[in-house]
Amino acid sequence: MLIVQKYGGTSVGTVERIHAVARRCVQTQREGHQVVVVASAMSGETNRLIGLARQVSPDPNERELDALVATGEQQSVALLAMAIRDQGAVAQSYTGGQIRLVTDNAFTKARIRSIDEEMIRSRLRQGEILVIAGFQGVDPEGNVTTLGRGGSDTTAVAVAAALKADRCDIYTDVDGVYTADPNVVSGARKIDRISYEEMLELASLGAKVLQLRSVELALKYKVPLRVVSSFDGPGVDPQGTLVCEEDAMMEKVLVTGVSHSKSDARITVRAVPDKPGVAARLFGALAEANISVDVIVQTASVDHRTDLSFTVPRSDHAKALKLSGEVATAVGASGVESDERIGKVSIVGAGMRSHAGVAAQMFDLLAREGVNIQMISTSEIKVSCVIDEKYTELAVRALHDGFGLGKAA
Ligand code: ASP
Ligand code: MG
Repeated sequence: MLIVQKYGGTSVGTVERIHAVARRCVQTQREGHQVVVVASAMSGETNRLIGLARQVSPDPNERELDALVATGEQQSVALLAMAIRDQGAVAQSYTGGQIRLVTDNAFTKARIRSIDEEMIRSRLRQGEILVIAGFQGVDPEGNVTTLGRGGSDTTAVAVAAALKADRCDIYTDVDGVYTADPNVVSGARKIDRISYEEMLELASLGAKVLQLRSVELALKYKVPLRVVSSFDGPGVDPQGTLVCEEDAMMEKVLVTGVSHSKSDARITVRAVPDKPGVAARLFGALAEANISVDVIVQTASVDHRTDLSFTVPRSDHAKALKLSGEVATAVGASGVESDERIGKVSIVGAGMRSHAGVAAQMFDLLAREGVNIQMISTSEIKVSCVIDEKYTELAVRALHDGFGLGKAA
C-alpha cells in the first residue's frame, strides 16, 4: 500500500517524539508499504516565528511572513529525515518547492494548484521515505507561500490525492474525532467512522482536529482519511476515526456530534428599508472587505422595514461594524448594534437528512436549560444556534446528553 502519514506539531515537538515518529515511519515501511511523511513545525514554533515577526514589524509584509514561518517545517522535516536515516532506512526531507507543490500567490492562505507526483513516485520506487514539509508551497514565480494555520493537514491530503494513496493517516495528540470537545463534555466519545460531509460541517463549526480545507480536498478526491494518535498508551484507541463516504449505518444516526465556537460576533442593522438591493449592498460591502458572514436572519417587515442580523468572525468585528454603519446610513436604516459575546452550538448528523424533528428536539433541550436562542441556521445535516456566550458549555452538555451521545454506561 501507499500510505501518507502526517504528523502534527506535538507529535514532533521534542527529540524523543521525533525518534518515536521515525520508528513508526520505518516500521510502516518494513511492513511492506510505501511511505510518504508530511510534518508540521515543532509545536509552538509557528507561533514563535509569528511573534518574532510582529516584534520587528507591527504589520509584517505577507510575502516575508510566509518566507519566515515556512522555516518551522523545514526544521522539523530535516530533523525527522535524520532520525529515520539513523534507523537504517533511506529518507530525505523536501520543502514544498522541492516537490514542486505550486500554489496561487495568496500569501498566508494560498491554495494548492499542482504537485509533481512523478518525482515523488520515482523516489518511492527507489525505496525512499519522503519527508515533506507541510503547510508550504511556492507560487508560479517561486515565492514561498503558506496554506493557512493548520495547513499541513491540507498538504498531506493533497499529496495523498495526487498519489492516489491507499490511506492518509493524520497523526495528532488526540486519538480521533469526538462527539463533543472532551474538555467541555467529560463523557464525550470517540467516533469510529464519520462521513466527509459530517466532518466538513464539524470542521467548519469549530472542531479543530482537521483544517477545513483538508476535509474539502479529501471529499473531492475521496481520500480515505484517518485521524489517529501518535502517542500510544492506556486508553488510546489505535484505530482512531475514519473519515470516509457515508454508508447506510451512518444515516441511521440522527446526531453524530455537537460542536461549539466562541469566535463569532453578531451585528444587527435596525429598521432597514425593505426593498430590493439593500441586502446585496450590505453583504457586498462585507464581501469586498473579505469578511465572511455566517448566520443571517432577517425579520418579517413591519411598516416596510426589517431588522437584519448576521454573524462575522470576532476578529473582523470592528471592521464589519464600521462598514455596516456606513451602509446603514447610506440606505436610511435607523442604526447598527452588535454583540461580541455570542456563542454558537451546533448538532451534526447525516441522519437528519431523512428524519424530521431533530431541530425541534434541539430547541426543546435548550429551552429546558433556559437558554435563549438568538439566531438559527440549518443545512441538510446540521442545525446551529447562536446563543449568549456564557451558556455555551451548558448548551453543549445538554445537547450531548439529550441526544444520547455519551459513553454507553
Ligand atoms: N505549522 C503550521 C501551524 O502551526 C501548520 C500546521 O501545523 O499544520 O499552523
Ligand atoms: Mg493541526
